[in-house]
Amino acid sequence: MTETTPTTREPDPLEFDKPRVSIRKPEHRFDSQGETPDASRVERAMNSFVRDFGRTAAVYMESCIHCGMCAEACHFYEVTQDPKYTPIWKLEPFKQAYKREYGPFAFVYRALNLKPKVTVDELQQWQHLLYDSCTVCGRCSLMCPMGIDIASLVSQARHGMFKAGLVPHELAAVTERARREGSPLGATPKVFADRCEWLSDEHDVEITIDKPRADVLCAMSSIEIMKYPESVVATARIMRHVGADWTFRLDGYEATNFGLLTGDAAAQKELTLKIVHAAVACGAKVVVLPECGHAYTALRWMGANMYGKPLPFRVLHIAEFLAEQVRTGKLRLRKLGKTVTFHDPCQLVRRGGAIEAPREVLQALGVELREMYPTKGANWCCGGGGGVVAIHRADELRHKVFKIKMEQIEETGAELPVTSCANCRQTFDDGQAHFKWDKTMHSLLELVADNLVEDAQ
Ligand code: SF4
Ligand code: SF4
Repeated sequence: MTETTPTTREPDPLEFDKPRVSIRKPEHRFDSQGETPDASRVERAMNSFVRDFGRTAAVYMESCIHCGMCAEACHFYEVTQDPKYTPIWKLEPFKQAYKREYGPFAFVYRALNLKPKVTVDELQQWQHLLYDSCTVCGRCSLMCPMGIDIASLVSQARHGMFKAGLVPHELAAVTERARREGSPLGATPKVFADRCEWLSDEHDVEITIDKPRADVLCAMSSIEIMKYPESVVATARIMRHVGADWTFRLDGYEATNFGLLTGDAAAQKELTLKIVHAAVACGAKVVVLPECGHAYTALRWMGANMYGKPLPFRVLHIAEFLAEQVRTGKLRLRKLGKTVTFHDPCQLVRRGGAIEAPREVLQALGVELREMYPTKGANWCCGGGGGVVAIHRADELRHKVFKIKMEQIEETGAELPVTSCANCRQTFDDGQAHFKWDKTMHSLLELVADNLVEDAQ
């Protein structure tokens, strides 16, 4: 290779006439979709927010006493001490529009111009607060003395942002891909079927697909199918071990729901109904959801609303299914004899209420459980939920937040960190690589599958 010698460049006379432009990185960039004029973007965002509003959300907006306790609860505020990360502040443009246009004293606010009209610039800036720096973890909602569910309001504000075409590019792209291909990460029905065939051969386990009738319909998340395929194998092994009449279905295997994370309500409904219709088609009595927190929220807590009537089957997160199998004695496990700490996925534990199920399973594995402080419903978020782990520009902030988790886990002195959410696991894997940390996050599902007492059958 020839070495190039630096040369003295002749100054370009025109260069000095050019305006000096700042090349400093902007504090936060925003993404937009479509060519909608600014005024329409604002109108769409606000109309959507108000339409979604309902009386409960309006009461929430009126009852904030500005105590600031939600700030202390939020990991983004905790690591930055920046007031703009105060959870209730994330809703400021929506609160402003509500007070000016729809609140009980709206005419006073308008007459005295106490609350100026929201501008598209504000919404653009708020994209960072509503998406990059909110995992919709609900810790602020838990701590608020007035019971304001700020996390739900953030989700409603995201609906408005989606209507305005002001969603982070990555989330818009994967949601669109999920609608087009059936999976946000390329785990199309064909890819899933091929993977199952390969995994079945490789691991010598039967993976049932498209059984016409089955009591149990299992679903997986894209992250598991593409990044952690051992989870697919683990699911099949456990179903065989407990003697379940089960199947995957190619018309309803994908539990990931980016519609929920993006704020695209139509996509959310479409993705949810795929699983619902697949379960109805095979007469499933139970749908077992994978290790994915937001998939649990989407089907367990929002599925009936999407379906328009009660779901004709039970919905269980895999950790709940495993706990039930432990209780009935069908799931027999070898004792691990290790020290373990459990990272509570926010959507499963704090938002979903499934606090004890993963702990029952760990107890059946004979581990010494060393709880983090704080733990269970008050545990800190990993920083990657709510779609944050997919937004590249949010990486720097997310890594700051991740330090809280590292400290929590180190303090327990446990040998194995375990969780039951592939999105959390991916966030931990990324954090581990970034900080060259020596702790690897483990999947509860895979831990169980690796320790089945097969010869007792
Ligand atoms: S904790 Fe609740 S009442 Fe206090 S500032 Fe936050 S939202 Fe308002
Ligand atoms: S939901 Fe979680 S990340 Fe979002 S504002 Fe509340 S505490 Fe912060």
